[in-house]
Amino acid sequence: MELQKVVKILSETHQNGLHFDLQFDNAYQLLIAALLAAQASDESVNEITKEFFRRFPSPETVAEADVEALEKAIYPVNFYKTKAKRLKECCQVLVEKYHGEVPSTVEELTKLPGVGKKTASMVILGAFGQPAVVVDRHVLRVLSRLGFEYKDADTAEEEIRQLLPPEYWGLLSYSFMRHGKTICLARKPLCEKCPLKDCCPSSTATASDGDEREGI
Ligand code: SF4
Repeated sequence: MELQKVVKILSETHQNGLHFDLQFDNAYQLLIAALLAAQASDESVNEITKEFFRRFPSPETVAEADVEALEKAIYPVNFYKTKAKRLKECCQVLVEKYHGEVPSTVEELTKLPGVGKKTASMVILGAFGQPAVVVDRHVLRVLSRLGFEYKDADTAEEEIRQLLPPEYWGLLSYSFMRHGKTICLARKPLCEKCPLKDCCPSSTATASDGDEREGI
């Protein structure tokens, strides 16, 4: 099946879930939340960001904070020590080079310390509402099970941008993410609930052989 058609089906299926699970009100908050969410669950990040943004409402406040204070503020999140340093470095550059404003292009965003393509694309899509392809582990897994094989997330992102018109980029990102979190689960996909079960090449295999796919 063509990728564009798959995106249409999954965006209809998940029409109430076409958004990120991270909570944010602006580009600064999404950038911070996305940096914290690396190798951590969105839920664990959401638990601390409300208080974090109350104490550190801008890049300036993070840039000026002690790393120890940042560590304490994000403590329950995985890799909090590394992330505290990264937040401070990132916000220092935001203040020094961008007057405290989050830049609105992937090219500029990826110049910030700790910001990779995925984080940059999340900010572009979620905060600026511009077309961007976000490939996280859920998106990559669903693509792979549906027969769209890419060697890594960056390759997938580049090729999807070639394959699909920009108005589909966000739909793919949100709907594949939601599908991977709710139906096409890593350990045991719920193929019987999937609208693609009759055309997905992994449907039968996963129904009887789910463990082999663990951790994809
Ligand atoms: S049929 Fe199963 S493996 Fe294929 S996309 Fe749907 S849930 Fe995932």
